[in-house]
Amino acid sequence: MSHLSGKFPFNKVGFHHGYPVPDSEFHTWIMQQVKVGGPDGHPLNIDVDFELSDSSLHFQRLALYGHNPLHMSRMLQSIARRRDRNLLKSQQEGIARFEHLKSRITYDTVLEDGSLMNEIYDIFSEIFFNGTLRYLCKVEFDPEELSRCWGYCISPHNDPSGRQYIPDNVASLIRLHKLGQNPNFQDPTKRLRQYTDTLLHEMLHAFLGIYTCMGGADCPSKIACEERFKEAIGFSGHRGQWQEAALEMEIAAPAFLGQEFYMNRDASLREEGEEYIASLSRETLDDWGFDEYGREIRK
Ligand SMILES: [Zn+2]
Ligand SMILES: [Zn+2]
Repeated sequence: MSHLSGKFPFNKVGFHHGYPVPDSEFHTWIMQQVKVGGPDGHPLNIDVDFELSDSSLHFQRLALYGHNPLHMSRMLQSIARRRDRNLLKSQQEGIARFEHLKSRITYDTVLEDGSLMNEIYDIFSEIFFNGTLRYLCKVEFDPEELSRCWGYCISPHNDPSGRQYIPDNVASLIRLHKLGQNPNFQDPTKRLRQYTDTLLHEMLHAFLGIYTCMGGADCPSKIACEERFKEAIGFSGHRGQWQEAALEMEIAAPAFLGQEFYMNRDASLREEGEEYIASLSRETLDDWGFDEYGREIRK
């Protein structure tokens, strides 16, 4: 399956501190993809073909750091909406893998295990992202026991200061906070739920950080791309286009995974500030399931 425009051989992909290795063939290729068509052809349109014969999606052009956040969010929303139609082949396979994985987990399974979380990451990549995140992030547990948050995502494009923590050959690092010592999470089922909720939340950040243009060094229309990203995704990463995609994923989760998912949308929205929430129409807040203060109205 294509995850890097389908054309680039995976053995040539290389990242260092989350950036494509400078002057490598891979870096040159990315710059070509990003700049293709000059400023007028940038950000790149994403062309998605649905293949009826095998229920798969193909991307004609899918470039790292190359797209409009609105288009990328819409693409994810349409993947999540497959819940009402024929599922994609990648989704069917992902769902089967997730069921199998859950059946292997017992009360004694150690959940604080990076390889288990990376496996779930790959499964979610198949189900919610059509495989486009495969190999691009590493998931690990935060070495610090004390943390205020459930997890976080470091990508050099939205968190330049943390990029030295990103291991070689991936574009982004997701860290989950261990909950084994937390008295509220002694039940492993509950703990696994929290880890998977957090993982999907962070994967959405990773996806938008990896595929959209935020006006980085290689961008031919820096100011416009920066502005567009701020408006669509925001400072903390939880504005409109993140919200819309997260909402569709939450709605799709019971059909895909047999369980509810809680992506912490309301607390995340409030990270964007009161002023932003006040700028949203009542209708938008309503669509997202929030009251006028951005609090989720639980049904
Ligand atoms: Zn750009
Ligand atoms: Zn977040």
